[in-house]
Amino acid sequence: MTSGRMSEIKAAIFDIGATLVTGPPVAPNKVIAGLVSGVAAADIASVIMTTQLTCADGVCRAIESRFGSIDQDAKAGISQLWQSQSSAAMEITGATEAVLALKRNGLRIGLLSDIWNPYYDSVTKALPRVIEAADAITLSYETGSRKPNPNNFISALDDLGVKPSEAVMIGDTYSHDILPALEVGMKAVWVLARPGREVESIIDILNGNAPAPTATVNNIVDVPSLHLWTSKS
Ligand SMILES: [Mg+2]
Repeated sequence: MTSGRMSEIKAAIFDIGATLVTGPPVAPNKVIAGLVSGVAAADIASVIMTTQLTCADGVCRAIESRFGSIDQDAKAGISQLWQSQSSAAMEITGATEAVLALKRNGLRIGLLSDIWNPYYDSVTKALPRVIEAADAITLSYETGSRKPNPNNFISALDDLGVKPSEAVMIGDTYSHDILPALEVGMKAVWVLARPGREVESIIDILNGNAPAPTATVNNIVDVPSLHLWTSKS
């Protein structure tokens, strides 16, 4: 599949959540679903991850316009969630250095994330040097579409000015980072940081029912030493 040399790689595109940062154990859409009765977490995610929001009131309005009015307790809870999400992201140890190592190696750097506004704010505080190093940042709340939709991958490649075969996706979730990247013709490095959540994908790959990633590591710090990049230097 990857015959020949790897020296054509020009760009590395990183997922953010659980690849470069960790956050609260419960995702924000699930917190909101717990506050707003009768609406599924997946439906909340389809709104908050794909809409430009500037404040908690905006979240409430977006949810109400889709699902009907919500009560004061829910509004207060959403306001509190917005606050906590705005400072919730923490760098995974070594993540910044891993990104900068590839940057120094001459690669263009992309970020590609399904994320909502307040959590992205906290990412910019947790990873300031990564944000500064990034040549392209593709966020679901700006594009309006989410992984595994190939549109965001293609948009990131366009922004970086590279062909799919010249780019590597680096992420923790097989179904949302690795498989769609392989399907558009990119290479993919699986950061298997949460293997317990990936068991079904691992089994599919081992049984030959899903394509294997180009490389797999268990921690972001191992990415720069992969042979993928060595012919660059
Ligand atoms: Mg992730």
